[in-house]
Amino acid sequence: MNTANSQGTKSAGNPLLSIRGLHKFFGPLHVLQGVDLDVDEGQVACLLGPSGSGKSTLLRCINHLESVDAGRITMDGTTLSYMERGGKMHLRRRKEISRQRQEIGMVFQHFNLFPHYSVLENITLAPTLLGKANSARAKATAMDLLEQVGLADKAKSYPSSLSGGQKQRVAIARALAMKPRVMLFDEPTSALDPELVGEVLKVMKSLAEGGMTMIVVTHEMAFAREVADQVVVMGDGVILEAGTPAQVFDSPQHERTKNFLRHVH
Ligand code: ADP
Ligand code: MG
Repeated sequence: MNTANSQGTKSAGNPLLSIRGLHKFFGPLHVLQGVDLDVDEGQVACLLGPSGSGKSTLLRCINHLESVDAGRITMDGTTLSYMERGGKMHLRRRKEISRQRQEIGMVFQHFNLFPHYSVLENITLAPTLLGKANSARAKATAMDLLEQVGLADKAKSYPSSLSGGQKQRVAIARALAMKPRVMLFDEPTSALDPELVGEVLKVMKSLAEGGMTMIVVTHEMAFAREVADQVVVMGDGVILEAGTPAQVFDSPQHERTKNFLRHVH
């Protein structure tokens, strides 16, 4: 039976990434207070919410840049970073965590390209160091990716000669070079001059159309409305509301969602 749901999302009821009961503390600060989220293969989830609500922390937990205090994150049914033994969660071996992390690409607000490496070298570095590809293969893939983000002519350039929008597109290509199954974006356009935002969103949109599974923290409401399968609103460490763009933007259920949307529209 076809399980496509009535909301018209791409959901097949089989999440690639699944988060259950996630809690995170920073000292006394309870930053994630029981987060549940499913993202299906090929889905784009846009994560919205006021500053300090825990959006970055959530992404960082998925990518194991932060440890978690309770709950679990699974990819394709396998718990990430931890494994259960004797009813307790134990950290996996470093090598295993590293292998799992390679399946998750992340793009930050600040691109953090290596300034002393060319654009091409920035993209080939990780795949070659981690033995994912030999040098020739890595270069060929990098050139394909540069083509995809519209920067094939910049392969030999250094990051300092690029605009912010170009740097961010290189950062996206660099993340894609590891052939991730999921891409996480943490406000990828927030640090850009307004005229450079569009070129980055365009690349992200084409990635989404190509079937990439994505979680995108963004304040770009038009992008979320157009590209998201699922819009997720966070507030104070919990998910306030999640649904299709039409559900969340046109008929938000919670007062706090309404309040937040009033401020960003
Ligand atoms: P958002 O991305 O939604 O703005 P964050 O996840 O960055 O929110 O932060 C959520 C809360 O956790 C904020 O109160 C922030 O100050 C706090 N926080 C984030 N990272 C740390 C950290 N490394 N140490 C202590 N507090 C942190
Ligand atoms: Mg943040």
